[in-house]
Amino acid sequence: MMNRRDLLKLTLAGAFGSVAAAKHRQLLTAIRGGTSLPATYIIDYRRNHLSDPQFISRLAEAPPNLLHLGHDCPFTAHWGPRAIPLPVPDISQYRLLTPQETSARSLAIKTMVRELHGAGVEIIFPYINSQQMGGDIEKRLGFWEFYDHWDEYLSFGLPPRPPADPAEWLQRDPAGRILFNNPAAYPGYAPQFFYSPCPNNAYWRTWLRFVVVSIAQAGFDGVFVDDNIIHCYCRYCREGFVHYLRSRYTPRELRSGFGTSEAEKIELCSQADKTAWAKAQPAFIEYLVSHYGRGELEKRFKIADLSTPANLDRVGYNFLERPAREFIASLEQKYSAEERRRLFGAADLTQLGIGRPEDRLRWFETQRFWAWSIGDLLVDLRRAVTPYRQGFVFVPNWGSMQTVGGVEGRRIQGKNVAEWARGADYMMFEEDYRHGFPGRAAAGGFTVHGIQYKFALANGVRPVVLFGGPRSRANVELAHAEAAAGGGGCFVENFGQFGEVRRLYRRFYESHSDLFTGFQSIAQVALAFFYNQTHLENPEHLRQVYSLHSTLASQHVLFDFLTEETLHLLPGYRVFILPSVAYLSRAQERTIEKWMDGGGRLIVPGDHPTFYEDAQPRPTPAFGSEPSNISEIRSTQFQWTGREGLLGLRGYAYGKQEGRQSRVTIHLLNYDLDATHESEPVRNLSISVALPAAFQHATLGKLSAFAPDSSEAFELHGEVRDGKLSFELPELRVYCLAEALLTAT
Ligand SMILES: [Zn+2]
Repeated sequence: MMNRRDLLKLTLAGAFGSVAAAKHRQLLTAIRGGTSLPATYIIDYRRNHLSDPQFISRLAEAPPNLLHLGHDCPFTAHWGPRAIPLPVPDISQYRLLTPQETSARSLAIKTMVRELHGAGVEIIFPYINSQQMGGDIEKRLGFWEFYDHWDEYLSFGLPPRPPADPAEWLQRDPAGRILFNNPAAYPGYAPQFFYSPCPNNAYWRTWLRFVVVSIAQAGFDGVFVDDNIIHCYCRYCREGFVHYLRSRYTPRELRSGFGTSEAEKIELCSQADKTAWAKAQPAFIEYLVSHYGRGELEKRFKIADLSTPANLDRVGYNFLERPAREFIASLEQKYSAEERRRLFGAADLTQLGIGRPEDRLRWFETQRFWAWSIGDLLVDLRRAVTPYRQGFVFVPNWGSMQTVGGVEGRRIQGKNVAEWARGADYMMFEEDYRHGFPGRAAAGGFTVHGIQYKFALANGVRPVVLFGGPRSRANVELAHAEAAAGGGGCFVENFGQFGEVRRLYRRFYESHSDLFTGFQSIAQVALAFFYNQTHLENPEHLRQVYSLHSTLASQHVLFDFLTEETLHLLPGYRVFILPSVAYLSRAQERTIEKWMDGGGRLIVPGDHPTFYEDAQPRPTPAFGSEPSNISEIRSTQFQWTGREGLLGLRGYAYGKQEGRQSRVTIHLLNYDLDATHESEPVRNLSISVALPAAFQHATLGKLSAFAPDSSEAFELHGEVRDGKLSFELPELRVYCLAEALLTAT
């Protein structure tokens, strides 16, 4: 199967040629598996940026590298040219701006962006949404009002008015009805409605390209692309799916996977969509009534009743997903296996629509196609904007990755990091707003965002992790430190808080950029994170990955994620953990076998691979005789400290070779703090890191420790012996970065 991602990344990287782009180059070059310079990031959605005289001067006190604004763009994607894009009680306040007002507003935005750059912000970008349109089809309000006045704005470079009404730009369900991903009567849109246009629709694309170009012309450096939810069976998606299949399969592979070599005969899968299935069951309405009370959903979602499919649609797919899952679980309880088979055609209702291998494969490719569509949209927008602005930055929002549930909810909505990565410079992971800060968690464990940073690094994209909740200065320091230690990303701050910490960290990053850029992890343990298992309906893999991630990290084992696309990096590791990977191709199996022949140690917790990647059963499970217990990893060979009782400590180690000299960096973080308690410093911490073979026969030169809050590095004493770099750190408060210079002997 083809993979064009690397090629595309190269092509795009090659496009960053201009002098203007040069200053961003260092920030933007994320090599797969290689670290990059961390950055500071502020989000500010207040609506008065153009009228607040304090905005720029306050920002200038501690300017971030990246500034993420709201709807401060000449044309908002979901409403057209409006100064106040979100509905307010007085409907006159969100009237369309006249062309003259739009010109004046564009000019004011341009001035603001110029002044923000002058204040020290590097990358400034506003908000667009790839699947939101506000308005009222019947009353022709909101986006429809703009569409009806389209020609008045042609002087702004707007393309000719699309012949199809915006109603034809919307996502569709398998029956061809308008698909509402969110509730139609979404509070932020009332008294108008929330519609979901399709990112594959040619007219919506044309409009988005114009919006992004107008953003670049206003002087912005990039754009934040929100939501990116697609669950669509429209004409464009059906046609796109055929092209997509042809790009991934040869005719022979199509025949063996789907039973036909003709891609146009293979349809997007809807039978495995549990929410769509539940919606078609009369008993689901009774289930909703019994759980939400009579009339409650009607009131909440502003519908007359639940009796028609069209009304149920307006509740919104995302809302119905959980009740549908619970409804199906209740049927499993209510009926015997025999009754379920008779009533629903399947004894195991979790296998609805995917009983046959070709259907499971089609369902997998349907989901991956949606994710591919988002990647395609981002690449398309980048292509459109490049003539106007080189090095324009795309920051799509992926959503929450912190929990298995978060990922499971998103993988059927077009979300797949690897598929998006080809069009993304940064990728946002929007996490818990109430209790999201790193540190001690209420549950007695620790809140750590290691999954997001590690997985983004493995996919060659830079993470932007968004969370909120109670915090102390130490929590904020830790959040910055996570971004630095995790390979170079950002955590999102609100305007005006802990500016002194932001200033400290930005200065630290920029004055020590050589400590952060272009390193590779030197972990010897790899953990498979094969995301496609989720699309194939194998949730156990994800559960195990999350659990193992937490266990290994808290036991101070250095490890990386390997994905389907980075499995070829296996020769760099001594141990590979393959947890409940049910679907594995022959090629992947051979790669692992070859590595084992060379001495690699495979551990297979949970289920062994019992299917090939096309869901066809294997005659016998792969790697049946390999051990399942990971306890052997808990040894000084793989742990960076052997000291017990430090469950809140995390470590990351990277290396870089420069001729005969190598540099090793070790990032140490102390999560043992919370919003009311500063960190308890750990003293006299013994650290010992196994070096990769290339670094083992080296003499240790300078060994230094850096911390953002002390201007001077301090020297440490250590040694390289038996292939390990060992030293003692006198004190670890929140974050410390140690650097060792090694010379080959
Ligand atoms: Zn579509």
